[in-house]
Amino acid sequence: MERDKTHIDYGYEIDLVVKPESSVPMFNREFAAFTGSGIPLFSLGGGASRQALSMILAGFHARRGYYVVETPIIASSELFKVSGHLQYYRENMFVFDIEGHDFVVKPMNCPYHILLFLNHVARSRGKTPIPFKVYEFGRVHRYEPSGSLYGLLRVRSFTQDDAHIILTGEHVGSTVKSIFEEMRILLEKVFKLEVTQENIHMRLSLADKSLVGKEFMGTLEEWTEVEESIKGAAEEIGKEHGIPYSKLEGEAAFYGPKIDFLMRVEEAGYSKEWQLGTIQFDFNLPRRFKLNELLAETHRVEQVYIIHRALLGSIERFLGVYLEHFKGRLPVYIAPVQVAIIGIRTGHEETDSKIELIAREVKNELVKRGLRVAKGLTNKTGLSGYVRQLESTVKPFINIFIGAREVREGYATLYVFNHKTRERDKVRVTGSEPLEIAIEIEKLIESMEKDVVSVSGVRPRVPGDYSHLL
Ligand code: ZN
Repeated sequence: MERDKTHIDYGYEIDLVVKPESSVPMFNREFAAFTGSGIPLFSLGGGASRQALSMILAGFHARRGYYVVETPIIASSELFKVSGHLQYYRENMFVFDIEGHDFVVKPMNCPYHILLFLNHVARSRGKTPIPFKVYEFGRVHRYEPSGSLYGLLRVRSFTQDDAHIILTGEHVGSTVKSIFEEMRILLEKVFKLEVTQENIHMRLSLADKSLVGKEFMGTLEEWTEVEESIKGAAEEIGKEHGIPYSKLEGEAAFYGPKIDFLMRVEEAGYSKEWQLGTIQFDFNLPRRFKLNELLAETHRVEQVYIIHRALLGSIERFLGVYLEHFKGRLPVYIAPVQVAIIGIRTGHEETDSKIELIAREVKNELVKRGLRVAKGLTNKTGLSGYVRQLESTVKPFINIFIGAREVREGYATLYVFNHKTRERDKVRVTGSEPLEIAIEIEKLIESMEKDVVSVSGVRPRVPGDYSHLL
């Protein structure tokens, strides 16, 4: 388990064998490496973990009536001229020229999502559902000054659990409430974070009404209709869940009001605020893409709004904060290494070969069943140091020990991480054959996946053998 100390000088300003940077928050380091440019390179386990999360989120959104889409990373600059980003957001964008044409690396997914909407309307002869909901696990790139980069918390390449909703005024209140529900379900069922009136609050950023038409674009009718519905929805969420809200008049974006969800987390004796989901109304993009003209023809709808919505926000930042908060522990279905099997050698040849055989076969069976597993061997005297190292780096969700006694008596001892107590629970599974043991372990993991399966319809299995880490 010794860290790689290899250093090769390639003569360019990049370390291809990336060492952990001391400026990176401690628990982010096993999840991703950083090449200094703010573009995280996910570790072998970190990549599989993100993949599993993306499967969960895709299933979750599909079940809630979103089209799950995937749009290109680069785009013709013309698309981002229509949206206005190229004119007003250019300093944050990566723009490049090929064959005399400007291309952009997308800093946001919205223009592509609106394009999908326009094409739906054009093809479906008035059958486009409104509200129209599109979701993407969308990777975006934004230029950030190098001085501001920080671990997974501030990067230049990140992924949003991004959705856009095109809707009319009558749907504003119910849509805001249903987005709150989505966030609550996701945090509680998938991330085991309790949403209570003590730890969550909503912040409404509204317009200064005297400046509508000047600093805030759009009409007074639009602002009034949307803001009244937002306040109504916030009241109802408050009544149902006790979640408080605050109003910041004059703090809206120039193109629309927004709601932010903030969670208070206790960390090492002090509490800090964690920005989660956001619901941002947009009066500008429907105008730029001429949605109202189009829908007046096809749907006899006079006025639509666009909502930009994220539940976790930047996946990288969310995981970065989560990893620090839980000291490197993710829920079992997205943990980079789900199970570590540790064989404890005795020095007795016959027993040791049995221990090794069982450890190896249990590992193979679990990988076959779709799990991310690592296997390692140690001896009794080195055990505590070995486990300490394991707990400070790899942090498997489940540790399994197989020693002489386990082999003789036909059982395995599991130490399962518990997010509530932040300790490990001891579980004993019986079985003298590797297959029996593996089946019992899988059953245990299945029981922990239950909530995720119920909200997403997906059992997110991305298997792998990570024995090189042990
Ligand atoms: Zn957007």
